[in-house]
Amino acid sequence: MSVSYAELIVATGADSVRPPIAGLRELGPDRGVFLLRSIGDARALMDDLSARQPGSAVIVGGGYTGLEMAEALMTRGVQVTQIEALPQVLPTLDADLGALIRAELALHGVEVLTGTTVAEVTTDAAGLTVRAKGPDGQTLVRTADVVLVVAGVRPNTALAEGAGVRLGARGAIAVDRRMRTSIPHVFAAGDCATTHHRLLGETWLPLGTTAHKQGRIAGENALGGSREFAGSLGTQVVKVFDLVAARTGLHTAGAAAAGRGWSPVDSLSVQDDHKRYYPGVSPLTIKLTGDRDSGLLLGAQLIGHVGAEIAKRVDIYATALFHGMRIEEISDLDLSYTPPLASTWDAVQAAAQVWDREHQRLA
Ligand SMILES: Cc1cc2nc3c(=O)[nH]c(=O)nc-3n(C[C@H](O)[C@H](O)[C@H](O)COP(=O)(O)OP(=O)(O)OC[C@H]3O[C@@H](n4cnc5c(N)ncnc54)[C@H](O)[C@@H]3O)c2cc1C
Repeated sequence: MSVSYAELIVATGADSVRPPIAGLRELGPDRGVFLLRSIGDARALMDDLSARQPGSAVIVGGGYTGLEMAEALMTRGVQVTQIEALPQVLPTLDADLGALIRAELALHGVEVLTGTTVAEVTTDAAGLTVRAKGPDGQTLVRTADVVLVVAGVRPNTALAEGAGVRLGARGAIAVDRRMRTSIPHVFAAGDCATTHHRLLGETWLPLGTTAHKQGRIAGENALGGSREFAGSLGTQVVKVFDLVAARTGLHTAGAAAAGRGWSPVDSLSVQDDHKRYYPGVSPLTIKLTGDRDSGLLLGAQLIGHVGAEIAKRVDIYATALFHGMRIEEISDLDLSYTPPLASTWDAVQAAAQVWDREHQRLA
């Protein structure tokens, strides 16, 4: 079937990465081996969980989807081993914050193997066997009823590539801020397309938040508009059992590698989520990255209890970043206060004051 068009929007999303694991290509949902990307993938897994009532699972990947799945499976009574090739889980955060998430997984009974690369999955009458290489080169073997591979995504560009569009960052379809590709009258949006990052320029950030904004802009411009995508900051948040982890902007290593002339430095502090005299106070770990010379906020990472309003707080930093604020100016924000929920200086402001004390006033 062919359909002619005046304006075309390509929104083909991203596909799961299939890491080079021996046996993976041959094994699928009928043998208890799953990828997780589409609704269809999720339904296949749900059906299998209902039909077979598996007792154990290996999750390959310790990114945010893998962590969410660890919680979901443990909640259903499935014993989870989580295997991550990098030295930490949730590698979008710094290692010291990733360690807090790892401890939370362990607290809830998840076996976490980091620095461990899965090499092979095999199956026999007894179930699935996963062989992996541990951090010291040792062979680790786990048996499981389910293997779930959530090892990242790559942009799905086949359709657009066939038409000859230019590709950009991480092999995504290169678009300008009006979501125009290199071919006239062809727009692209979402996970298949590059992302304008407000601090870095062209990147690829496959997030639902970005996809929604880009799709709206592509649609408006395909109809003759001239709207520009304001840019992403990679703001994201994930719940892992009783903790929530969030980040926006850059961490210090990323800011240093960006080559923008910043002198990035960070500070780590633990703040109360609300007034200590009010029951139920919980610690909130905040790491801020800023430019030592200008005091410009470059990024924030937060971890705290699920009730500690982490999403609201990372969004305050995201808003400050969006508007190019200096860390010192965060203390000027008129933020809400009531003892059960916050302090007169909110935790985001107290953390900003720590950064300022460590890197500006004493500089
Ligand atoms: C488990 C999971 C959890 C997530 N959680 C979050 C989250 O908490 N926060 C967040 O911001 N983001 C999250 N994301 C990411 C978010 O879902 C994506 O960024 C978003 O769906 C991208 O939207 P999209 O329209 O670009 O692509 P998609 O939603 O992937 O849609 C693309 C569609 O195009 C179809 N398609 C592809 N090729 C063709 C073709 N040739 N012809 C016709 N159709 C085609 C695909 O089948 C697909 O249905 C999550 C993703 C997953 C998998």
